Amino acid sequence: MKLIIGSHVSFNKDTQMVGSIKEAVSYGSNTFMFYTGAPQNTNRSDIKIDLIKEADNLMKENNIDKNNIVVHAPYIINLANSEKSYDFSINFLKQEISRCEKLGINKIVLHPGSHVGLGEEAGLDNIVFALKEILKTKTNVKILLETMAGKGSELGKTIDELKYIIDNVNSDNLGVCLDTCHLNDSGIDLTNFDSYLKDFDKKIGINKIGCIHINDSLNPISSHKDRHANFGFGNIGFNTLIDIVYNPIFENVPKILETPYVTKDANSKERIYAPYKYEIEMIKGKEFDKDMIEKIRNN
Ligand code: FE
Ligand code: FE
Ligand code: ZN
Repeated sequence: MKLIIGSHVSFNKDTQMVGSIKEAVSYGSNTFMFYTGAPQNTNRSDIKIDLIKEADNLMKENNIDKNNIVVHAPYIINLANSEKSYDFSINFLKQEISRCEKLGINKIVLHPGSHVGLGEEAGLDNIVFALKEILKTKTNVKILLETMAGKGSELGKTIDELKYIIDNVNSDNLGVCLDTCHLNDSGIDLTNFDSYLKDFDKKIGINKIGCIHINDSLNPISSHKDRHANFGFGNIGFNTLIDIVYNPIFENVPKILETPYVTKDANSKERIYAPYKYEIEMIKGKEFDKDMIEKIRNN
């Protein structure tokens, strides 16, 4: 089976996707995900058209299919709370979608939102209203709602919540991005992934899954924490994650690592080394390397 795999990479204003592609290729990836600017703010530089041709050539040289590249919307967008920066969030997501169109990217991952005290029902209805408004404009870009850990008042933490949004927005431009760390933290037993998929297929449809974030979790099942761990180094574990990566149902679905950078040494808090080249190597070899973190530090 072919493997479509990559990681989160950077995107800076000078090199834009050309820089992202070079970074992805250095990890052995054949896809990647990026934020069009800092994830926690909305400062965005203009898309440079002249870099797009260069990016297209680089992708061709490295067998990267543009259809597998994913943008992640910034987390400050919150479509669930209509009392706080709601119009801003709607407009900013519209702009992100048009940036995706300029870049030729057709998938954008979105955290559905947090209701912040309004209640789940009102929060879900706010998300539905906002997405309907955003998708009034015809686009090739698919919005992928991410499965959330259920931290604070996050919505999209159950299949039923995602189903409610998807059914009510009723658009071909809406899909789902699974995140294994979030699923674990939300209460899904990933050692029994087939039963989750069965339920998902019955309620939403497996064909709606457009991306998978493959992260381990620092916390046990149902912890509602959302803290990512390196692949195989958390509570989900290597074999369970490998089974998900190599599930033939997802052969054509991009798998993206959002695992944490490795610290300089065991006592340091400063995360400086990207783990992705090593993690992708382990995933391709299907064999866990318990010394991976040490190897990264010593390299
Ligand atoms: Fe996310
Ligand atoms: Fe994620
Ligand atoms: Zn997360």
